[in-house]
Formats: sequence, C-alpha cells, structure tokens
Amino acid sequence: MMPRTMNNKYCVVCGDKATGYNFNALTCESCKAFFRRNALKKIPKCKFQSNCVIDIVMRRMCAFCRLNKCIECGMKKVSTRSPRIRGSTPNHLLTESTGTLGVDLERRGQGVSAHEN
Ligand SMILES: [Zn+2]
Ligand SMILES: [Zn+2]
Repeated sequence: MMPRTMNNKYCVVCGDKATGYNFNALTCESCKAFFRRNALKKIPKCKFQSNCVIDIVMRRMCAFCRLNKCIECGMKKVSTRSPRIRGSTPNHLLTESTGTLGVDLERRGQGVSAHEN
C-alpha cells in the first residue's frame, strides 16, 4: 500500500511535480535536466521583459527566464561533487573520554544470613 500523499511536492521553478532536490532546489526532472544543460551555457536573452512567468507551459518558451528563475530559487551552478571543507577537525574534539564511571550495581546473591558459631 502506497501512501497517497507521496507525491505532493512541486517544482519551485515551474510547478510541475518535483522529483527531489536538484542543484540545491526542489525541482522536477525537466528543470533538473534544463539546469544541468544550460546553467553554464550562454542562452539567448529573453524576447520580452525578462520577467516571464514560468510554469509548465511557459518553461519551454523562454529559457532565459527559466534559468533566471532556477537561480532565483536557489539552484546553483556547482559540480555534483560534494564540497570538501578545508581544514581538519581539531584533535581535542575527537578524543574520547576514557574515564570510567563507577557503576555500583546492587550485588545480589550475597547471603544475608549470618551464621553464628
Ligand atoms: Zn520544473
Ligand atoms: Zn522571458
């Protein structure tokens, strides 16, 4: 049984069904592919006022505004490699505390009965 609410996320760029986070934004497959292909390319300028509303239909009409919107929505022209943070973690943060906490367990089984001889 699949939950019905599984696919309730929408592309931040065009409003199509989103498939997940791509290039740092929640987008559909189409916008992901579009961004990957065009992010680093020179694309023709908008024929209008550079403020086209991008939706599922318009996303095909104006690559310029679509790409703009992608960027506005937080998509980033970065390689897919995960960024490495420079510098190393200070060692003192890694050392484990070796102190042993004395745990006093209740000792059972010790006879309480005292035999007097
Ligand atoms: Zn989209
Ligand atoms: Zn446009």
